Amino acid sequence: METPAHPPDSGLVVVSNRQPYAHRRDGNAVRVEVPAGGLTSAMDQVLRSTGGTWVAWGHGSADREMVDAGGCVAVPPDQPRYTLKRVWLEEDLVENYYHGYANQVLWPLCHTALDRVYYRKRFWSAYAAANRRFADAVLDLSRAGAVWFHDYHLCLAPAMVRKARPDLRLAQFWHIPWPDWSVYRACPQAREVLEGLLGNDLLGFQVPLFVHNFIDCVRECLQAKVDYIRSRITFGGHTTRLEAYPISIDAAAFRRMAEAERTVKLMARLRRRWGLEGRQIGLGVDRLEYTKGLLKRLQALDLLFERYASLRGRFTYIQIAVPTRLKEPYLSYRAAVEALVERVNRRHGRPDWTPVIFMDTKVEHRDLVAYYRMADVGIVSSMYDGMNLVAKEFAASQVDRRGVLVLSEMAGAADELEGALLVNPYDTEGFAETIRRALRMEPAERRERMESLQRQVGEHDIHRWIGDILTDLTGAALPDAGRGLPLSKERGSLEAAIGGRPVGLMLDYDGTLSPIVRDPAQARLPAGNRALLLRLRERMPVAIVSGRGLDDLRGRIGIDGLLYVGNHGAEIAEGDRILLRQDHAAARAAMEECLERVREALLGIPGVIVEDKGGTASVHYRMVRPRDLEPLFARFTHVLEEYEEIFRITSGKKVLEIRPKGLWDKGRAVLWLARRWGRDRVPLYVGDDVTDVDAFRALKGRGISVSVGPCPDADFTVEGTAGVTALLRRLCGPAGSRPGATP
Ligand code: UDP
Repeated sequence: METPAHPPDSGLVVVSNRQPYAHRRDGNAVRVEVPAGGLTSAMDQVLRSTGGTWVAWGHGSADREMVDAGGCVAVPPDQPRYTLKRVWLEEDLVENYYHGYANQVLWPLCHTALDRVYYRKRFWSAYAAANRRFADAVLDLSRAGAVWFHDYHLCLAPAMVRKARPDLRLAQFWHIPWPDWSVYRACPQAREVLEGLLGNDLLGFQVPLFVHNFIDCVRECLQAKVDYIRSRITFGGHTTRLEAYPISIDAAAFRRMAEAERTVKLMARLRRRWGLEGRQIGLGVDRLEYTKGLLKRLQALDLLFERYASLRGRFTYIQIAVPTRLKEPYLSYRAAVEALVERVNRRHGRPDWTPVIFMDTKVEHRDLVAYYRMADVGIVSSMYDGMNLVAKEFAASQVDRRGVLVLSEMAGAADELEGALLVNPYDTEGFAETIRRALRMEPAERRERMESLQRQVGEHDIHRWIGDILTDLTGAALPDAGRGLPLSKERGSLEAAIGGRPVGLMLDYDGTLSPIVRDPAQARLPAGNRALLLRLRERMPVAIVSGRGLDDLRGRIGIDGLLYVGNHGAEIAEGDRILLRQDHAAARAAMEECLERVREALLGIPGVIVEDKGGTASVHYRMVRPRDLEPLFARFTHVLEEYEEIFRITSGKKVLEIRPKGLWDKGRAVLWLARRWGRDRVPLYVGDDVTDVDAFRALKGRGISVSVGPCPDADFTVEGTAGVTALLRRLCGPAGSRPGATP
C-alpha cells in the first residue's frame, strides 16, 4: 500500500500510549478512528502547526498496513502535517505492561487505593520492555529536539532516552495524582520508577501538592539533592525541574457547543424523554471507575432523599457512567454501583418518578453539553483525582449560569475552581447537605459562582496549558499556528554576540556556579568550576554576584583576585578590600518585626515558605494551591502596607521579595562593575534566579545576559549548572589563548 510522503519536521516529539489516529479494517475498507479526547485533539493541533512526530502504540487492526518500513504514517490522513510513528506491542506485552503494571499497580497506587494494587513480576518486566520500545522509537528519529512524554505508562522511557541522547530536552506530564510517601513506598519498584522519571528535564504535575509529594518520595528513596523552594531535583548529575500545570479543556469549544441550536432542541427532547419537566436536575458524568467515588455519591443521595422527603418527585439525578477497562476490579465495581442505584430507586422512587437515572453508555461531547447545560447541580465526588475535566466542562457549558458545581476536595480541580461547593466524599452527611444547599441556592449566588468558575476555565484553557509546558520545555514561546517551533537551546551564537571583544564576566552563585541543594548552607562550588574560575581569572575580570552575604560568599569560593558582590549588590569587595557597602542595619529591626507579622498572617496557608536572608527576605509560594493565592497576596499586602516607607516589594517566579528601599539590586551592581571595567569590555552576566532578572534588564543593549533555564529577559539560555560549566569552558578558550580575549 502506498503511503503519503512525510511532512517537514520541527523536532518536537510527543510520546503517549494512545495514538491520535487509529486505522481499522472494516471489510474491504480501512477506517480512520479519531479518539474524542480534548487533550489528544489539542496536541494534534499543536503538531499540525509545528510539524514533528507523535510516537504511540499502534493498536488499530489496520495500523500495520498503513505505515512505512519505519512504522511511520503521515497524519492527519486527509491533510498530512506531521508524522505518527507507531510502536508495536504484542498481546502479552500489552496485557502485562498496560493492563498489568500501568493499570493495576501505578494507577491504584497513585490514587492511594492501595488495596487495589495487584502486582506480578511479569508486569514489571513487560513494563520495562514496552518502555524500551517507546524509547527506541524516539531514538530512531533523525530529527528530535524536544520530547514530551505523557503519563504513567512511560516512567522508564525518559531515562532510557537521556542515557543515549543527553542533548535532547525531555519533559513529561503526569496526568494522575502523585501520592505521598507513606503510600508510594508500597510500590515494588519505587526507586526505578523515580529514577526513570528523573531522566526528564521538566516534570509536570496537576497541582502543587503532587509536586511536593514527588519531592518527598525522592528524598526518602534516592540519594538526590532536592530543593523544595525552587522545585528542582538533582540526581546523577542531572537536574529536573518540577512544576504544577493544571490541565484544562477547550473552554470556548464547549461554550460554542452548549450555545448551539441543536443543544437547545436536545435539551427539550431529553426533558420529555426522562420526565424532567418542572423538576430540578442533578448530573454526574464519569467513567465507571472506582476512583470517581460513585458509591459515596449514591450513598449521599440516598441520605438526601431519606432526610428530605420533599425532594422526592422534585429532584432527579442523572448518572452517565461510561464502562471502562472491562476487567476486574471494574466489573465488580460496576455491579456494586448498579446494585446501589437499584436500592436508592427502590427505597425512594414512585411510579411517576425515578430518583436516579443511570446511563451506562458513552455520550459524545456535542450531546453531553445538553446534559451539562440543563443540570441544576453537577456532582463530582472523586476519592482522589489528578484534575477532573468533567468539572471544567460542566462550568464551560453552563451558558445560562444556573447550575452549581458540587466538587470533591480530593480532585485536583478543587485547587483552582473558586465558586464550586467543595465536599469531602467520605463525609456522607456533609455531602448530602451540600447537595441540598446547591438545590436551594438563590439565582444571584448561582450566577456569581458560575461566573467565577467560567472566568477561571476560560482564562486557563487547554491551549494555554500546552503553551506553558512547551515554553518551559523549549525555552521559547509557542508560535502562532503555522510557524515553526524554535527548539534550539540558544537563540543565535554567543560568540557572535561577543564579537571578539574582551569580556568582563559576572556569575551568580546558587543555581549557576553551584547546583541548588535543599539546605543552602550545603551549597559548594564544584571542583570543575573552581578550576575553570582559576583559569578565567587569568583571562578576564570575574565577579561573583549573589544574594548571600559577602563573608558567606567569599568563604564558599575563596579565590583571590575575584570581585565579590553580596546581598544582591549592596556590598562589593575585591579580595578583602571593601569597595562599596550599603548600610542595611537600620532596616534590620524593621525586617524582623515585619517578617514575624508576615509569618503570622500567612499561618494556615499550606506550602508558603518565608525565608529571612538578612538584608532581604523572600516569600516563596510555589507550593501554594492556586485558590489560596488570593488570600496570600491580600494578607501579605495588608502587612506590607505598613512598611511601605521602608521596604520595596518585587515579585518573581513564584516568589515575593522584600528589600529595604534604596538598597542596590543586582542590576545597579552590574552597571557599576561594567563602568569600572571600561567601555571596551563587554559585560557578560550568567544567572538563574528572579533577582538576576534585574541584572539581565540592566544589561539590555549594554552587555550580554545568559539565563540558566528559560527567561524572556535573557539573551541566551543554558541548561542547568552543567550548561554553565560548558559555557565557562568555552570562555576559557583553547589553552594558551591571550588573557582578556575571548574565543
Ligand atoms: N466523557 C465523554 N462521554 C461520556 C463520559 C465522559 O466524552 O459519556 C469524557 C468527559 O467529557 C471528559 C472525560 O471523559 O472529557 C473524563 O475526564 P476526567 O478528567 O473527568 O476523568 P478521567 O476519565 O480522565 O479520569
